[in-house]
Parts: sequence; structure tokens; C-alpha cells
Amino acid sequence: MSTTFPAYLISKTEDGQSTDLCTISTDDLMDGDVTVKVEYSALNYKDGLALTGKAPVVRRFPLVPGIDFAGEVISSENSQFKSGDRVVLNGFGVGEVHSGGFAGIARVKGDWLVSLPEAFTARQAMAIGTAGYTAMLCVMALESHGLTPDAGDILVTGAAGGVGSVAVSLLARSGYRVFAATGRPEEQDYLTGLGASEIVDRHEFSGKAKPLSRERWAGAIDVAGGNTLANVLSQMNYGGAVAACGLAESMDLPTSVAPFILRGASLLGVDSVMAPLEKREQAWRRLEKELDLDLLERMTVEIGFDGLPEAAEQILAGKVRGRTVVKIPD
Ligand code: NDP
Repeated sequence: MSTTFPAYLISKTEDGQSTDLCTISTDDLMDGDVTVKVEYSALNYKDGLALTGKAPVVRRFPLVPGIDFAGEVISSENSQFKSGDRVVLNGFGVGEVHSGGFAGIARVKGDWLVSLPEAFTARQAMAIGTAGYTAMLCVMALESHGLTPDAGDILVTGAAGGVGSVAVSLLARSGYRVFAATGRPEEQDYLTGLGASEIVDRHEFSGKAKPLSRERWAGAIDVAGGNTLANVLSQMNYGGAVAACGLAESMDLPTSVAPFILRGASLLGVDSVMAPLEKREQAWRRLEKELDLDLLERMTVEIGFDGLPEAAEQILAGKVRGRTVVKIPD
């Protein structure tokens, strides 16, 4: 029996795509072996690109956007999940090539789901969302490189954004001295409240990078790419490492080999979308233990379903602070 529910639907048009808030039915969903009642979703940078059509994130039409969601299993043909289970989903092409979380109901492959950690409500899981889980993947990448708090200062770019806010709070709690790079000096109190030791003006990193500059960072988490990442690389201490996950400034990387061959710096790529299940579960377990839920609440804003189009424009304009959760209507 089919059920109807509200959803955003992105359709192809002659000159691009259109995004509409409408009512669809379970018959409109794509194939999958687990059906989930979505309670919360979140607005990520990629969702902003998908909803506005400013980059070709959506590659199958018509499609429900929303790259992550948390909720309760309604029905399952997958042996790992049963009706009533609490689950969370990040990535795997959901919201890009498979209908996602901006809808009352989602149908996905059970292999893409992670059990919702007991410590979190659906809202908290989405306050973390893909951005927060990616921040943890970045921390794990730096640790795998051997980074420890006594190695020196750590830089987080895009610090007032979603990945940045969670990264600052996780690193500070682990004892790192965190420098938060932001273009929003008015967020100084917010960032020091999350644990940043120093605030750095992001414009220090926006000019053309020299091959090498003064050594400043034992490690860094970069969400910007472009000149920012090139400058950060040129400032790495001998043997330092940058975990790079984003392109908020640019997809380009105008750097040279100098940081790698003269300072032994490492560039660690971080992808959350196709990360293997074991790594995802490890990241969620660590978030459960290490993320301060009071700080998480401080970085979270909740919006209603109809607020998504406006919030999508805001996140692309770099005006969204921290994380935005979306309450999905019943
Ligand atoms: P947000 O929009 O929440 O944060 C991005 C932040 O980057 C902004 O808040 C701003 O921070 C900073 N920024 C924006 N424009 C520029 C610019 N031109 N130069 C330097 N800094 C800039 O996005 P998210 O935190 O959700 O995502 C950040 C990036 O990471 C995105 O590119 C996203 O696509 C990517 N990402 C990648 C994932 C992966 O799997 N690899 C997963 C999740 C995200 P401030 O105002 O403090 O300067």
C-alpha cells in the first residue's frame, strides 16, 4: 500500500533544474531494501548546491535531495535491520543519484545505513550530520598520520561552518591548541566557546601561495581548497599533515611540490561519501564518546521544512554558522 508524504523534488528542465516542495508517494521512491520514516535531516554545503542547482550535484531526475537523514525503520527486507530500528545515513550518493532525506519517507539500501548511536537522538545525529562525521574522519586521518597534541598548533579553516565547528570542538577537547580561520570576526566568541585558542583572519590565506612560508602548523583540517589550502600547505611544519575535505573556496589547488619534498608534509584526502562501513561506525562511536553535546547544541540551528530554499542560498553565501537541522514534518 502506498503512503503519501511531503518532499522536495528536483526535476530536470530545459535550462537546468527546478526544485519544488510537493506531495509524493512511496511509489515515487527509488529501489532499496529498507524504508525509513525520516525524523530529521540536515543542511550540508552539498545540499545547498543541489537545491539551488549551482553545481551539478544531482545527477538523476526526478530526485529527492538531502544527503543525510536520521529516523526509524518502517519496513526492511535487509537482515541487518528491522521495523523500529533507529538509523542514520550519510552519503553513498543519496541526495545525488538516489532520493534522500528531504522527505517524510526514504527508501535506501540497508548496506548504507548505520545504527543510530544510543547516545544521540535523531536531531542530535543530524546536528552532527555529514559535516560532523566528516570532521571526525579528518581527525582520524590526522591521528593515523601520527599527530598528537604535543606536536604543535593545529589550523581549522572554514571554522564557523559545519565541518569547521565540529572539528574545532573535537580537536580542542582532545587537547590540541586550535587556531580557527574564519572570515567572520564577529564569530570570535562563538569559536572560542567551542574551544579555539586563537582566531585567524581567513584572508591571510586567500592570496597566491608561495612554495614555502614560515612553518606554523603541525596539522590542519581544510574545508576550502584553492589558495587557502595552497597557503596552508606552504606553512606546514616539517612532517606536518593537512586533512583536506572541502572546496568551499575552490576545486583548484594552486600549489607546488615544495611542501612535500622539502618539508615532508602530507596531504590526506578525506571522503565521507563512499567511506567503508567499518570506518563510518568507528567515526560515529568516537563522536558518541568525544563530542560535547552542549557544544553541539550551541552550534545548531533548527529550521522548518519550508525554510530549506532560503537556507540553501545562505549556506552557499557562507552565512550559515555551525549546523542546520531540518525537522521533517509527519
Ligand atoms: P559550510 O558552508 O557550513 O562551511 C564552509 C565554511 O567555509 C564557511 O562557513 C566559511 O567559513 C568558509 N568559506 C566559505 N567560502 C570560503 C572562501 N572563499 N575561502 C575560504 N573559506 C571559505 O559547509 P560545510 O562545513 O558543510 O562543508 C565545508 C566543505 O566541505 C564544503 O566544500 C563541502 O562540500 C565539503 N565537505 C566534504 C565532504 C567530503 O566527504 N569530502 C563531506 C562534508 C563536507 P568562515 O565563515 O568561518 O570563514
